[in-house]
Amino acid sequence: MSFDKTKWVWMNGEMVEWHQANFHVSSHALHYGTGVFEGMRCYETDEGAAVFRMDAHLDRLYTSASVYGLDLPYSQVELANAVCEVIERNGFNSCYIRPICFFGSNVLGLVPRNCPVEVVVFAWEWAPLLGQESLEKGVRITVSPWTKFHSRMMPTTAKASGQYLNSILAVRDAQARGFDEAILLDEKGNLAEGPGENLFIVSDNKIFTNDESSSILMGITRDAAIELAEDLGYRVKVCKLTLNDLMAADEAFFTGTAAEITPIREVDFNPIGDGTRGKVTHELQQAFFAAVQGKSAAHRKWLHFVARPNQPFLSEPLTSEAFVSVGD
Ligand code: PMP
Repeated sequence: MSFDKTKWVWMNGEMVEWHQANFHVSSHALHYGTGVFEGMRCYETDEGAAVFRMDAHLDRLYTSASVYGLDLPYSQVELANAVCEVIERNGFNSCYIRPICFFGSNVLGLVPRNCPVEVVVFAWEWAPLLGQESLEKGVRITVSPWTKFHSRMMPTTAKASGQYLNSILAVRDAQARGFDEAILLDEKGNLAEGPGENLFIVSDNKIFTNDESSSILMGITRDAAIELAEDLGYRVKVCKLTLNDLMAADEAFFTGTAAEITPIREVDFNPIGDGTRGKVTHELQQAFFAAVQGKSAAHRKWLHFVARPNQPFLSEPLTSEAFVSVGD
Protein backbone atom coordinates (compact mmCIF):
# COMPACT_ATOMS: atom_id res chain seq x y z
CA MET A 1 0.00 0.00 0.00
CA SER A 2 1.32 3.41 -0.87
CA PHE A 3 -0.05 6.95 -0.83
CA ASP A 4 2.56 8.13 -3.34
CA LYS A 5 0.14 8.73 -6.18
CA THR A 6 -2.44 10.58 -4.10
CA LYS A 7 -2.14 14.30 -4.70
CA TRP A 8 -5.54 15.66 -3.67
CA VAL A 9 -7.74 15.21 -0.62
CA TRP A 10 -11.31 16.45 -0.16
CA MET A 11 -11.44 18.17 3.23
CA ASN A 12 -14.63 19.75 4.56
CA GLY A 13 -15.88 20.69 1.12
CA GLU A 14 -12.62 21.74 -0.50
CA MET A 15 -9.88 20.02 -2.44
CA VAL A 16 -6.52 20.44 -0.75
CA GLU A 17 -3.11 19.09 -1.57
CA TRP A 18 -2.00 15.92 0.22
CA HIS A 19 0.55 17.68 2.46
CA GLN A 20 -2.05 20.24 3.55
CA ALA A 21 -4.59 17.68 4.67
CA ASN A 22 -3.78 18.01 8.39
CA PHE A 23 -5.67 18.26 11.68
CA HIS A 24 -4.58 19.37 15.15
CA VAL A 25 -3.06 16.92 17.68
CA SER A 26 -5.84 17.87 20.12
CA SER A 27 -8.49 16.40 17.82
CA HIS A 28 -10.92 14.33 19.87
CA ALA A 29 -10.79 11.39 17.42
CA LEU A 30 -7.03 11.04 17.73
CA HIS A 31 -7.36 10.48 21.50
CA TYR A 32 -10.55 8.43 21.72
CA GLY A 33 -11.21 7.01 18.24
CA THR A 34 -14.40 9.03 17.85
CA GLY A 35 -14.69 8.79 14.11
CA VAL A 36 -16.59 6.68 11.63
CA PHE A 37 -15.42 5.72 8.21
CA GLU A 38 -16.01 3.68 5.09
CA GLY A 39 -13.82 1.77 2.71
CA MET A 40 -15.02 1.49 -0.86
CA ARG A 41 -13.41 0.42 -4.08
CA CYS A 42 -13.52 1.95 -7.49
CA TYR A 43 -12.93 -0.37 -10.45
CA GLU A 44 -12.05 0.21 -14.08
CA THR A 45 -14.91 -0.64 -16.45
CA ASP A 46 -15.42 -0.18 -20.21
CA GLU A 47 -17.41 2.94 -19.40
CA GLY A 48 -14.79 4.45 -17.10
CA ALA A 49 -14.13 4.21 -13.39
CA ALA A 50 -17.05 3.09 -11.24
CA VAL A 51 -17.47 2.90 -7.46
CA PHE A 52 -18.92 -0.39 -6.24
CA ARG A 53 -22.06 0.02 -4.13
CA MET A 54 -21.50 3.66 -3.26
CA ASP A 55 -25.07 3.98 -1.97
CA ALA A 56 -24.76 1.08 0.48
CA HIS A 57 -21.43 2.40 1.76
CA LEU A 58 -22.75 5.91 2.27
CA ASP A 59 -25.88 4.56 3.95
CA ARG A 60 -23.66 2.68 6.39
CA LEU A 61 -21.51 5.77 6.96
CA TYR A 62 -24.54 7.85 7.94
CA THR A 63 -25.84 5.09 10.19
CA SER A 64 -22.45 4.71 11.89
CA ALA A 65 -22.25 8.49 12.31
CA SER A 66 -25.64 8.69 13.98
CA VAL A 67 -24.63 6.03 16.53
CA TYR A 68 -21.81 8.25 17.75
CA GLY A 69 -23.66 11.57 17.44
CA LEU A 70 -21.65 12.79 14.46
CA ASP A 71 -23.90 15.10 12.51
CA LEU A 72 -22.70 14.95 8.93
CA PRO A 73 -23.07 18.41 7.40
CA TYR A 74 -23.26 17.07 3.83
CA SER A 75 -25.97 15.24 1.94
CA GLN A 76 -25.38 11.78 0.57
CA VAL A 77 -25.29 13.17 -2.98
CA GLU A 78 -22.71 15.79 -1.96
CA LEU A 79 -20.49 13.11 -0.43
CA ALA A 80 -20.90 10.87 -3.49
CA ASN A 81 -19.83 13.81 -5.65
CA ALA A 82 -16.84 14.36 -3.33
CA VAL A 83 -15.84 10.71 -3.79
CA CYS A 84 -16.03 11.06 -7.57
CA GLU A 85 -14.09 14.33 -7.50
CA VAL A 86 -11.29 12.75 -5.46
CA ILE A 87 -11.00 9.87 -7.92
CA GLU A 88 -11.03 12.12 -10.98
CA ARG A 89 -8.71 14.78 -9.59
CA ASN A 90 -6.11 12.15 -8.67
CA GLY A 91 -6.48 10.50 -12.07
CA PHE A 92 -7.27 7.04 -10.64
CA ASN A 93 -8.93 4.33 -12.75
CA SER A 94 -9.17 1.98 -9.83
CA CYS A 95 -8.51 2.71 -6.18
CA TYR A 96 -9.63 2.30 -2.60
CA ILE A 97 -11.59 5.23 -1.16
CA ARG A 98 -11.72 6.25 2.47
CA PRO A 99 -14.41 8.72 3.56
CA ILE A 100 -13.95 9.52 7.26
CA CYS A 101 -15.92 11.72 9.58
CA PHE A 102 -14.70 12.51 13.10
CA PHE A 103 -14.77 14.88 16.04
CA GLY A 104 -12.06 17.51 15.70
CA SER A 105 -10.49 19.83 18.23
CA ASN A 106 -12.33 21.68 20.96
CA VAL A 107 -12.27 19.72 24.25
CA LEU A 108 -10.73 16.48 25.44
CA GLY A 109 -13.36 15.44 27.92
CA LEU A 110 -14.96 12.18 26.86
CA VAL A 111 -18.04 14.02 25.64
CA PRO A 112 -16.95 15.77 22.46
CA ARG A 113 -18.76 18.99 23.38
CA ASN A 114 -18.77 21.43 20.46
CA CYS A 115 -15.99 19.56 18.71
CA PRO A 116 -16.30 20.31 15.01
CA VAL A 117 -17.38 17.41 12.79
CA GLU A 118 -14.59 17.02 10.26
CA VAL A 119 -15.28 15.22 7.00
CA VAL A 120 -12.54 14.00 4.70
CA VAL A 121 -12.45 11.83 1.58
CA PHE A 122 -9.25 10.50 0.15
CA ALA A 123 -8.21 7.59 -2.04
CA TRP A 124 -5.18 5.55 -2.94
CA GLU A 125 -4.21 2.65 -5.11
CA TRP A 126 -4.49 -0.50 -3.01
CA ALA A 127 -4.00 -4.09 -4.19
CA PRO A 128 -6.14 -6.83 -2.58
CA LEU A 129 -5.73 -6.63 1.21
CA LEU A 130 -4.12 -10.02 1.60
CA GLY A 131 -2.08 -9.81 -1.62
CA GLN A 132 -2.93 -10.55 -5.27
CA GLU A 133 -1.58 -14.08 -4.86
CA SER A 134 -4.01 -14.74 -2.01
CA LEU A 135 -6.96 -14.52 -4.42
CA GLU A 136 -5.71 -17.66 -6.15
CA LYS A 137 -3.89 -19.54 -3.45
CA GLY A 138 -5.96 -18.59 -0.44
CA VAL A 139 -4.77 -17.54 3.00
CA ARG A 140 -3.65 -19.30 6.15
CA ILE A 141 -5.57 -18.14 9.19
CA THR A 142 -5.53 -18.71 12.93
CA VAL A 143 -8.16 -18.54 15.62
CA SER A 144 -7.45 -15.35 17.51
CA PRO A 145 -6.96 -15.33 21.27
CA TRP A 146 -8.89 -12.05 21.15
CA THR A 147 -12.68 -12.25 21.25
CA LYS A 148 -14.77 -10.11 18.91
CA PHE A 149 -16.50 -7.54 21.11
CA HIS A 150 -20.19 -8.15 21.59
CA SER A 151 -22.72 -5.68 20.28
CA ARG A 152 -23.67 -4.82 23.87
CA MET A 153 -20.11 -3.52 24.29
CA MET A 154 -20.03 -1.50 21.09
CA PRO A 155 -22.37 -1.62 18.13
CA THR A 156 -20.70 -4.10 15.81
CA THR A 157 -22.77 -2.94 12.84
CA ALA A 158 -21.23 0.55 13.02
CA LYS A 159 -17.84 1.13 11.43
CA ALA A 160 -16.12 3.35 13.98
CA SER A 161 -12.41 4.10 14.24
CA GLY A 162 -11.94 3.08 17.90
CA GLN A 163 -13.62 -0.28 17.32
CA TYR A 164 -10.71 -1.33 15.13
CA LEU A 165 -8.33 -1.73 18.08
CA ASN A 166 -9.92 -5.15 18.57
CA SER A 167 -9.15 -6.05 14.93
CA ILE A 168 -5.62 -4.68 15.17
CA LEU A 169 -4.82 -6.82 18.21
CA ALA A 170 -6.06 -9.88 16.33
CA VAL A 171 -4.22 -9.30 13.07
CA ARG A 172 -0.95 -8.33 14.78
CA ASP A 173 -1.06 -11.50 16.84
CA ALA A 174 -1.87 -13.66 13.78
CA GLN A 175 0.94 -12.20 11.68
CA ALA A 176 3.43 -12.38 14.54
CA ARG A 177 2.68 -16.12 14.67
CA GLY A 178 3.25 -16.48 10.92
CA PHE A 179 -0.36 -16.55 9.67
CA ASP A 180 -1.84 -14.29 7.02
CA GLU A 181 -4.98 -13.38 8.93
CA ALA A 182 -7.03 -14.06 12.06
CA ILE A 183 -10.54 -15.32 12.64
CA LEU A 184 -12.21 -14.00 15.79
CA LEU A 185 -14.78 -15.91 17.80
CA ASP A 186 -17.71 -14.16 19.42
CA GLU A 187 -18.24 -14.15 23.18
CA LYS A 188 -20.18 -17.43 22.97
CA GLY A 189 -17.34 -19.16 21.10
CA ASN A 190 -19.06 -19.15 17.71
CA LEU A 191 -17.26 -17.84 14.67
CA ALA A 192 -17.56 -14.08 14.26
CA GLU A 193 -15.40 -12.66 11.47
CA GLY A 194 -11.93 -11.65 10.36
CA PRO A 195 -10.41 -8.37 11.55
CA GLY A 196 -11.71 -6.70 8.39
CA GLU A 197 -13.61 -9.45 6.58
CA ASN A 198 -16.77 -11.51 6.81
CA LEU A 199 -16.64 -15.28 6.69
CA PHE A 200 -18.36 -17.81 4.43
CA ILE A 201 -18.10 -21.57 4.36
CA VAL A 202 -19.17 -24.08 1.72
CA SER A 203 -20.36 -27.56 2.67
CA ASP A 204 -21.99 -30.04 0.30
CA ASN A 205 -22.39 -27.29 -2.30
CA LYS A 206 -24.37 -25.12 0.11
CA ILE A 207 -23.09 -21.77 1.29
CA PHE A 208 -23.26 -20.59 4.90
CA THR A 209 -22.52 -17.29 6.57
CA ASN A 210 -23.43 -15.68 9.88
CA ASP A 211 -25.04 -12.33 10.66
CA GLU A 212 -25.10 -9.55 13.25
CA SER A 213 -26.19 -11.98 15.96
CA SER A 214 -22.55 -13.21 15.83
CA SER A 215 -21.22 -9.67 16.45
CA ILE A 216 -20.14 -9.01 12.88
CA LEU A 217 -20.07 -5.91 10.77
CA MET A 218 -22.69 -6.49 8.09
CA GLY A 219 -20.40 -6.29 5.10
CA ILE A 220 -21.47 -4.93 1.77
CA THR A 221 -19.31 -7.48 -0.05
CA ARG A 222 -20.99 -10.17 2.08
CA ASP A 223 -24.34 -8.92 0.87
CA ALA A 224 -23.15 -8.92 -2.75
CA ALA A 225 -21.67 -12.42 -2.38
CA ILE A 226 -24.99 -13.73 -1.06
CA GLU A 227 -26.86 -12.27 -4.01
CA LEU A 228 -24.29 -13.50 -6.53
CA ALA A 229 -24.37 -16.99 -5.02
CA GLU A 230 -28.17 -17.09 -5.23
CA ASP A 231 -28.00 -15.91 -8.83
CA LEU A 232 -25.62 -18.78 -9.55
CA GLY A 233 -28.21 -21.16 -8.12
CA TYR A 234 -26.64 -21.88 -4.74
CA ARG A 235 -28.61 -22.06 -1.54
CA VAL A 236 -27.28 -19.60 1.02
CA LYS A 237 -28.11 -20.16 4.65
CA VAL A 238 -27.50 -17.44 7.24
CA CYS A 239 -26.91 -19.05 10.62
CA LYS A 240 -24.48 -19.26 13.49
CA LEU A 241 -21.23 -21.02 12.59
CA THR A 242 -18.85 -22.93 14.80
CA LEU A 243 -15.15 -23.64 14.55
CA ASN A 244 -16.11 -27.21 13.86
CA ASP A 245 -18.17 -26.08 10.84
CA LEU A 246 -15.12 -24.26 9.51
CA MET A 247 -12.70 -27.13 10.09
CA ALA A 248 -15.09 -29.60 8.43
CA ALA A 249 -15.99 -27.32 5.50
CA ASP A 250 -15.20 -28.14 1.87
CA GLU A 251 -14.29 -24.51 1.24
CA ALA A 252 -14.12 -21.24 3.13
CA PHE A 253 -13.58 -17.66 2.08
CA PHE A 254 -13.46 -14.13 3.39
CA THR A 255 -15.35 -11.20 1.88
CA GLY A 256 -14.59 -7.52 2.27
CA THR A 257 -14.02 -4.38 0.27
CA ALA A 258 -10.27 -4.56 0.79
CA ALA A 259 -10.04 -8.38 0.72
CA GLU A 260 -12.66 -8.80 -2.06
CA ILE A 261 -13.30 -12.58 -2.12
CA THR A 262 -10.29 -14.34 -0.63
CA PRO A 263 -10.18 -18.13 -0.26
CA ILE A 264 -9.11 -19.55 3.11
CA ARG A 265 -6.91 -22.56 2.61
CA GLU A 266 -5.86 -23.42 6.14
CA VAL A 267 -6.95 -22.80 9.74
CA ASP A 268 -4.26 -23.33 12.37
CA PHE A 269 -2.38 -25.77 10.11
CA ASN A 270 -5.54 -27.73 9.20
CA PRO A 271 -6.28 -27.58 5.48
CA ILE A 272 -9.81 -26.59 4.46
CA GLY A 273 -11.03 -29.10 1.89
CA ASP A 274 -8.02 -30.00 -0.20
CA GLY A 275 -6.15 -26.88 0.91
CA THR A 276 -6.58 -24.97 -2.36
CA ARG A 277 -9.12 -22.48 -3.70
CA GLY A 278 -12.43 -24.33 -3.96
CA LYS A 279 -14.68 -24.54 -7.02
CA VAL A 280 -17.57 -22.57 -5.51
CA THR A 281 -15.22 -19.88 -4.21
CA HIS A 282 -13.66 -19.57 -7.65
CA GLU A 283 -17.06 -19.32 -9.32
CA LEU A 284 -18.10 -16.60 -6.90
CA GLN A 285 -14.86 -14.69 -7.43
CA GLN A 286 -15.49 -14.72 -11.19
CA ALA A 287 -19.05 -13.48 -10.71
CA PHE A 288 -17.82 -10.81 -8.30
CA PHE A 289 -15.11 -9.49 -10.61
CA ALA A 290 -17.52 -9.50 -13.55
CA ALA A 291 -19.95 -7.43 -11.48
CA VAL A 292 -17.41 -4.86 -10.25
CA GLN A 293 -15.93 -4.48 -13.72
CA GLY A 294 -19.34 -3.77 -15.28
CA LYS A 295 -19.43 -7.04 -17.20
CA SER A 296 -22.67 -8.27 -15.68
CA ALA A 297 -25.83 -6.50 -16.83
CA ALA A 298 -27.77 -7.79 -13.83
CA HIS A 299 -25.37 -6.09 -11.42
CA ARG A 300 -24.88 -2.72 -13.08
CA LYS A 301 -27.19 -1.40 -10.38
CA TRP A 302 -24.19 -1.72 -8.03
CA LEU A 303 -21.99 0.67 -10.01
CA HIS A 304 -21.74 4.42 -9.56
CA PHE A 305 -19.92 5.83 -12.58
CA VAL A 306 -17.40 8.47 -11.55
CA ALA A 307 -17.81 10.64 -14.63
CA ARG A 308 -21.57 11.01 -14.06
CA PRO A 309 -22.10 13.30 -11.06
CA ASN A 310 -25.40 13.75 -9.21
CA GLN A 311 -26.54 10.23 -9.93
CA PRO A 312 -29.76 9.44 -8.16
CA PHE A 313 -29.45 7.10 -5.21
CA LEU A 314 -31.28 3.85 -5.32
CA SER A 315 -30.67 3.32 -1.62
CA GLU A 316 -31.80 -0.25 -1.89
CA PRO A 317 -31.85 -2.03 1.44
CA LEU A 318 -29.18 -4.70 1.75
CA THR A 319 -30.71 -7.61 -0.10
CA SER A 320 -29.56 -10.32 2.29
CA GLU A 321 -32.32 -9.41 4.72
CA ALA A 322 -34.76 -10.97 2.28
CA PHE A 323 -33.40 -14.44 2.85
CA VAL A 324 -32.05 -14.37 6.34
CA SER A 325 -32.97 -17.50 8.21
CA VAL A 326 -31.11 -17.59 11.47
CA GLY A 327 -30.56 -21.08 12.84
CA ASP A 328 -29.02 -22.02 16.12
N1 PMP B 1 -15.94 -6.91 9.03
C1 PMP B 1 -15.13 -5.93 9.42
C2 PMP B 1 -14.76 -5.82 10.85
C3 PMP B 1 -14.66 -4.99 8.48
O1 PMP B 1 -13.84 -4.02 8.86
C4 PMP B 1 -15.02 -5.13 7.13
C5 PMP B 1 -14.49 -4.15 6.11
N2 PMP B 1 -15.31 -3.03 6.02
C6 PMP B 1 -15.87 -6.18 6.78
C7 PMP B 1 -16.31 -7.05 7.74
C8 PMP B 1 -16.35 -6.32 5.36
O2 PMP B 1 -17.24 -5.27 5.05
P1 PMP B 1 -17.40 -4.72 3.58
O3 PMP B 1 -17.67 -5.89 2.71
O4 PMP B 1 -18.54 -3.79 3.67
O5 PMP B 1 -16.13 -4.04 3.22
